[in-house]
Amino acid sequence: MAFIQSFGAAKVVTGSAHLLSLDNGIKILIDCGMFQGENEDKNSEKLEFSSDEIDYVVFTHAHLDHVGRSPLLFKEGFRGQIIATHPTLELARVIMLDSAHLMKEDYRLHFKKAQRRGEENRVKPPLYTAEDVESFLTMKKCYATYGKRIKLQKDINITFHNAGHILGSAFVEIRFIESGIEKCVVFSGDLGNKNDVVLPSPEDAFEADTLYIESTYGDRNHKDISDSIDEFKNTVVETLKNGGNVLIPSFAIERTQEILCMLKFMYKNRELPVCRIFLDSPMAIRATRVYNRYTEELSQLCQQFLNEDGSVFDFPNLEFIKTQEASKKINDIKSGTIIIAGSGMCNGGRILHHFKHRLWNKVNAVIFVGFQARGTLGRDIVEGARWIKLYHEKIKINASIHTINGFSAHADQSELIEWMKHFNRLGNVYLIHGEEEKQIIFREAIMQKLDKRAHIVESGEQIYI
Ligand SMILES: [Zn+2]
Repeated sequence: MAFIQSFGAAKVVTGSAHLLSLDNGIKILIDCGMFQGENEDKNSEKLEFSSDEIDYVVFTHAHLDHVGRSPLLFKEGFRGQIIATHPTLELARVIMLDSAHLMKEDYRLHFKKAQRRGEENRVKPPLYTAEDVESFLTMKKCYATYGKRIKLQKDINITFHNAGHILGSAFVEIRFIESGIEKCVVFSGDLGNKNDVVLPSPEDAFEADTLYIESTYGDRNHKDISDSIDEFKNTVVETLKNGGNVLIPSFAIERTQEILCMLKFMYKNRELPVCRIFLDSPMAIRATRVYNRYTEELSQLCQQFLNEDGSVFDFPNLEFIKTQEASKKINDIKSGTIIIAGSGMCNGGRILHHFKHRLWNKVNAVIFVGFQARGTLGRDIVEGARWIKLYHEKIKINASIHTINGFSAHADQSELIEWMKHFNRLGNVYLIHGEEEKQIIFREAIMQKLDKRAHIVESGEQIYI
């Protein structure tokens, strides 16, 4: 009998890796993500399955917590096939190379310090290098198109459907025949929010004997997006009118493109005061390039921009900042700038030097547009820190701090339940990709609204399907 084991995203959000083992010995791995935040230590452990036995790796989307450990598969002997949409593989390359780069930098820094203590043998080398990423990506690939069934082998098919989470994202439907009976398993991947500025809403799914569904926001409903957009616009306009600058720490994929679209919308509606906008993140620039190559997959608003002026994201105020020198030059500009820079949670990246030069001045504003994890600098600022330490210097926070929570790349509880309601046939439901306390609330809601039991998956647990 076929079974599924989850080796990540079980009672936690990160580290997605779900292994489907079929009766005939075929093994399909759905995602192979990095653990982030509190569970980071798990990344350096050996993968909990034999990579050389895996026939297919399926990527639902390119976020680090879904693809980030896949170069390790290759290092540990995987020689099967990768199945994903075109944009997912392009974005995954950007993400994995960035991750390899950060690990290398981190290693160098720790090695130097450890060397001075005579403890360099204790420093763990990076999990993988840029070369490992490229080697992994030389594996045989099968590119998926939404709605088109792919035959993997006799009696095993897979279909990708648009999940509306980030460009290229999908929920996948795997059908196989076992003992003469067809079975259908659906993995939701991460499901998008209906109000996404850049992407269309997730498609509906109709059938599943087994559903593995994400539960990141299974415990709550998001604030109305229109309130968030108004709050965003007001902060930008007020700050610029008062001679200040707006700093936006942003994630490179999806959130940055959403921010660019909103600013372009304001510009086209003549709502944007005279200003210069800097996208100061090489990774976000690379990701935006990938978005530009797949404009047909973007939202109505993006299509409208494309038809009206031949480009989705470009407009006269926007400048892409590639080099460190150009980034530092922005510090010389006194007022009238909007600076979008990484990292999204301010635990590194160019946003830090902008903070150093702007946070002390009360005319400036910082807009947080994404989740800030515990232990990050972003979280400290959001929670009201009066000053921070940067580059061995104490910086007082006089700038106004705004946290806008309505932007989310994930469906909330009501959207998840609504998505489940569209199934004509829905068998067993399993909850993954969520913190346990939130999953318990989500399980309650599923019981109440759909009269259905759901099971919260444990790491390593064998679920027979
Ligand atoms: Zn995601």
